[in-house]
Amino acid sequence: MTNLSKDFKSKISTLARISSLTIEKVQESSDGTKKILFKLEDGNFIESVLIREKNHWTLCISTQAGCQMGCKFCLTGRYGFKRDLLPSEIVDQITISRFNMPEGNNIKNIVMMGMGEPLANYKNTIKAINIITTNSGLEFSKRKITVSTCGIVPMIEQLGRDTVVNLAVSLNAANNETRNYLMPINRMYPIEKLIDACRAYPMPKRRRITFEYILIEGVNDSPEDAENLARLMRGVLCKFNLIPFNEFPESQFRTPSDERIDAFRKILIKHKYTAVIRKSKGRDILAACGQLRGAEKGHS
Ligand code: SF4
Repeated sequence: MTNLSKDFKSKISTLARISSLTIEKVQESSDGTKKILFKLEDGNFIESVLIREKNHWTLCISTQAGCQMGCKFCLTGRYGFKRDLLPSEIVDQITISRFNMPEGNNIKNIVMMGMGEPLANYKNTIKAINIITTNSGLEFSKRKITVSTCGIVPMIEQLGRDTVVNLAVSLNAANNETRNYLMPINRMYPIEKLIDACRAYPMPKRRRITFEYILIEGVNDSPEDAENLARLMRGVLCKFNLIPFNEFPESQFRTPSDERIDAFRKILIKHKYTAVIRKSKGRDILAACGQLRGAEKGHS
């Protein structure tokens, strides 16, 4: 900015800095899903995923480079934790995608479901949400923003006090024993506490909490698991996204058969829940749920 005086520039540099992410690579899946690999200023990598809906696109963004939560079924967790993203780095995934991707103008929903646990980077996540939703920022309606968590109970309560956005919870089990095994966070905040926090969460009007349930063969996919889940959720305004586990190289888990997945869903429907089977998009480019790892060749 050559039109600014030296003094003014040096004053600004003490107050603020301008930075940006760079797009390192874009991969397109056979189903149209696009995975964008961003390089951060410090050389770390993160990923965002553009998901095609009927008439618009949803952008799934990251809140951390890597993740510390160690969920057993998740590739991101396996690659360890690098650092929290700054508010600007969270927001920039949207602005850069808007300006550089052909579908950028048609991004209507934002889901914080990419790399990392948003509520483990709470301060920066909430700042980013404010920038994304304010009129002097990106002007998204709060109803179009979804925060997905593995279940950090006190921060779910805090989120409910600080803003009104959609909540998604990665549940994946209907009892503590299985959830402890799959998701270490459950040892700190067991299912009963998590469900209580969900009951108290102030969802936007006419919205329901989404519970993500990754179906893993022989681990959490039995008819008994489905019955337990239905019982556990009694009285919670919610819907279920049933996600058949996405196998990846070296994964210890398997995808259940279509019959077993369907039987699980039918039990939830019988108990009057909305349950949708989400065949993950972008599987062929490792852009599906739990498959982001923010790695470029030669990096990890
Ligand atoms: S599922 Fe989410 S919270 Fe769990 S390790 Fe993966 S990125 Fe982290």
